[in-house]
Amino acid sequence: MPDRLHIGAHLSTAAGLAAVCRTAVEIGASCAQIFTSSPQQWRAKSYAQADIEAFHAAQAETGVTPVVAHESYLINLASSDPALLEKSRDAFDEELRRCGQLGLPAVVLHWGSYKGGTLDEGLDRLAESLTRCLPLADDLGVQMLLETTAGQGAYLGGDFGQYPRLFDRIPAHEKLGACLDLCHIFVAGYDMRDPVGYAAVWDDFDRTVGIHRLHALHMNDTEKALGSHGDRHANLGTGNLGTEIYRLLMHDPRLTDVPKILETPNGLEALAADLRTLREAAV
Ligand SMILES: [Zn+2]
Ligand SMILES: [Zn+2]
Repeated sequence: MPDRLHIGAHLSTAAGLAAVCRTAVEIGASCAQIFTSSPQQWRAKSYAQADIEAFHAAQAETGVTPVVAHESYLINLASSDPALLEKSRDAFDEELRRCGQLGLPAVVLHWGSYKGGTLDEGLDRLAESLTRCLPLADDLGVQMLLETTAGQGAYLGGDFGQYPRLFDRIPAHEKLGACLDLCHIFVAGYDMRDPVGYAAVWDDFDRTVGIHRLHALHMNDTEKALGSHGDRHANLGTGNLGTEIYRLLMHDPRLTDVPKILETPNGLEALAADLRTLREAAV
């Protein structure tokens, strides 16, 4: 049954792609996010045609959509190390090809780190990486969604103002989308916990990035404090975000069609409970 709430979770592909859809239904999710390869390994095996067909059949049967990808953690498209940059670009092209093969409409990606260089050099390299793979992504029908990050150390993407600075460097930047992670923006210093803060942060996001670019939300609560730049996800209601923020998000007409995905810890039962929290927040 299609679900107008568009709530979902990051799920394991260990039991095969088709199992992702069935697990989603079991825990009350109508959309999902997956790693298309092991997130800690460079080498990825390709998918068998039978696996892909079973996935599409399960998707049609369950109505779980969209299923989006999250890129591997090893990829750094802004790296100042030429060898790592090249390896990352190749691996990201492969990531896009796997998304295309599986028919996934979008991939969530991190900005990467400029360690060993300057922030501007990092933005230059990331812009070059994205400019380079945009035609491939376009051909495959896969949209790239740049995720807001916790902004720790030399990691890019920790403030909204970096989006226009990146976009200015990319001729076809209008094809790029965004993913906003509630945990990351909070520890990066954006406080949406009450209605005043909520309105102000979205105004800022809309002015600098554009709400029209937002195609995924990561609904994670956070264990770490406002402005701490510490990235540790928490189950809803157990971290620092409180409950009002979820009520505001689930009632925001601008976000109705944006997939709201959980990347919260402690397994499937905890995910099911977090999905119930989102459902209740929408009432
Ligand atoms: Zn996230
Ligand atoms: Zn995170």
